Amino acid sequence: MPELPEVETIARKLRPDLVGRKIISADLRWNRTLALPSPGRFKQQIQGQEILDVTRRAKYFIAQLSDFHLLVHLRMSGDLLIKDSTIRAEPHDRLLLKLSDGRSLVFNDTRKFGRVWLTSQPANILGKLGPEPLGEDFTATWLHNALHKKRRQLKPLLLDQSFIAGIGNIYSDEALHIARLHPLTISDSVTVKQAEALHAAIRTVLNEGIRRNGASFDWVYRGGEFQNYFRVYGRTDEKCPVCRTKIKRILVGQRSTHFCPNCQKSR
Ligand SMILES: [Zn+2]
Repeated sequence: MPELPEVETIARKLRPDLVGRKIISADLRWNRTLALPSPGRFKQQIQGQEILDVTRRAKYFIAQLSDFHLLVHLRMSGDLLIKDSTIRAEPHDRLLLKLSDGRSLVFNDTRKFGRVWLTSQPANILGKLGPEPLGEDFTATWLHNALHKKRRQLKPLLLDQSFIAGIGNIYSDEALHIARLHPLTISDSVTVKQAEALHAAIRTVLNEGIRRNGASFDWVYRGGEFQNYFRVYGRTDEKCPVCRTKIKRILVGQRSTHFCPNCQKSR
């Protein structure tokens, strides 16, 4: 499932292809891909819009248009790519936006969980998100205070997009391992030093993920190589890269969670 680094990778890759192009028309091939507005309104409103910028917020891909924002959430299996407009649509292509340069921006989504919004009020969708972990608002002091306002286990708290945005199963397991924190640690027991370590670890894994063009593990996304550098995620029974203890896998709120029982002791 794509997380912050994978969406950031897509946005960076597509930006030079998209900025300055106009959207000529929309071919919506599966109506439920569209969260907002209605299909008829969408096709009418997006026609003739110029793409001014391409950004990302949390796991949302954002194209800023002349009058609207186009938001895409890839969810389980979504992917965005540029294709020549003369190439026939593939079975899992859900939305094709024909561009002024003869190519198309294609949203492909095998499992159909991905969603697209066209709105002039992006804050209505993005406003509930917690701070951006690579942004200035996310500091070690903020994290320590925020952890102490909750009494929740660290792993599900890190996955909660209203607490901190953009982190999913892979990057939370990796960050907790670097910070040497057990995934079931209760948030308000985390010390200042541990919060500093977790803050640094979150940034380290996200930046490393971006540097390696994201992870291709368990996802259609092609070209990322961060999966070759996982410390604990998906490495059940393999040796911890720090202490050689066997990595354990447990279920936390239905999500598989990987950790080193020696480096990440529960207290
Ligand atoms: Zn270890």
